[in-house]
Amino acid sequence: MATGVRGKVIVAGFIGADAPQEEDLYRCVHCGLCLNACPTYVETGLETESPRGRIALMKAVFEGRAGVEPGVVEHWDLCIQCRACEAACPSGVPYGRLIEQAQAQMRPRRRGLPGRFVAWLAYGHLLPSPGRMRAIAGLLRLYQRSGLRALVRATRVLRLVGPLAEAEASLPDLSQPAFRATGQVFPARGAVRHRVGLLSGCVMPLFHGPTMEAAVRVLTRNGCEVHVPASQGCCGSLNLHGGDMDGGRAMARRNIDAFLEAGVDVVISASAGCGATMKDSAHLFHDDPAYAAKAERFGAMTQDITEFLASLPVDPPRCEAEPLRVTYQDSCHLVHAQRISAAPRTLMAAVPGLELVEMAHSDRCCGAGGSFQLTQREMSGQLRTHKLEEAAETGAETIATANPGCMVQLSLGAREAGLQVRVCHVVDLLDEAYRREAAIPASQSAGR
Ligand code: SF4
Ligand code: SF4
Repeated sequence: MATGVRGKVIVAGFIGADAPQEEDLYRCVHCGLCLNACPTYVETGLETESPRGRIALMKAVFEGRAGVEPGVVEHWDLCIQCRACEAACPSGVPYGRLIEQAQAQMRPRRRGLPGRFVAWLAYGHLLPSPGRMRAIAGLLRLYQRSGLRALVRATRVLRLVGPLAEAEASLPDLSQPAFRATGQVFPARGAVRHRVGLLSGCVMPLFHGPTMEAAVRVLTRNGCEVHVPASQGCCGSLNLHGGDMDGGRAMARRNIDAFLEAGVDVVISASAGCGATMKDSAHLFHDDPAYAAKAERFGAMTQDITEFLASLPVDPPRCEAEPLRVTYQDSCHLVHAQRISAAPRTLMAAVPGLELVEMAHSDRCCGAGGSFQLTQREMSGQLRTHKLEEAAETGAETIATANPGCMVQLSLGAREAGLQVRVCHVVDLLDEAYRREAAIPASQSAGR
């Protein structure tokens, strides 16, 4: 059972190169200060669905008292990987790393054809290939626009194929145009203050094309020359969260090369989940002599778009105030993984007429969690419902956030609940203010 791995001894129960490490596991002193930060613990009240309980199970496997078996794995599977526990932990337990490594242990031992097929398809063939992702999105767009969707729903044929009807109902709306700018360089408006590389990635350009275009406009408006390197692709975070460490590393290598070769000063992500993974590149490649130094540089260059813009600071839009009541959902991978909460609020405060109304538990996960939305539908739905209830209590007409998964999840929840609420990215709000500014005659806007 014991296995030698990269110079370390990994003991009973864990196998292979990516296993939870002793020094990380035993930092947990079981104090329980993370419990009430954990959404799955709050929902269930069960120790086994808490960070402390999940770490105890990892220790049990590490010590050879348990195996990576269904009674253990089901509790790791129900973890959203939101990392709220990591932010709450006074002992510095790197929970995000531990659960990723536990997922890597589960992957080769997965049972059942459907799970293996989905992993093979998504991690091995779709996410690594921007071309295939575009093709799938194109087919889905055609399905949604052509009337085929209405026919399929009317005949209820998908109800005959297991959970396919639910999966189809939760597809994001693909009516918006995709962002097709890889390989392009967008000039700064005015003098060039920064040369930035923009992550296009996998999901953002297909599901949230207009937000990516807004990101380019806001950056160029603030003196940035924006490069969108052609050879980039998915950052690898979904593979890594799903336990496909080698696949995730291969994708991360491609992006490290693409952005370093672009010669930019900063790498910007408008997706909090991707940015969190990219910032953590040094750890991912710490024992890879060919990439360790490059990964460290790449991670240090990466910033979330809200973090970067707020640090400039952003040029305030000179437009008429337009009343807008907004509530903000802190994306887990921005607030917990990257510890950024002030920057998006600072940007929204710059929008004339925007009133920010905080919802209760704005930093609690909305239940998106990458593929969690698909694999743990019940828990994901529960969290989504509570989140929408708390957002509705603010009376806001708009929910702003900073991650594509949250945007899809909240839009789906609003659609299901029949709520008249718009879901958007923080940069969409800033971009709209700048565009209103353009509508003011130059003679009126000059000197404001
Ligand atoms: S993860 Fe941290 S906060 Fe949670 S029980 Fe362990 S030491 Fe305490
Ligand atoms: S990552 Fe989130 S869901 Fe998982 S144990 Fe930590 S707080 Fe709970």
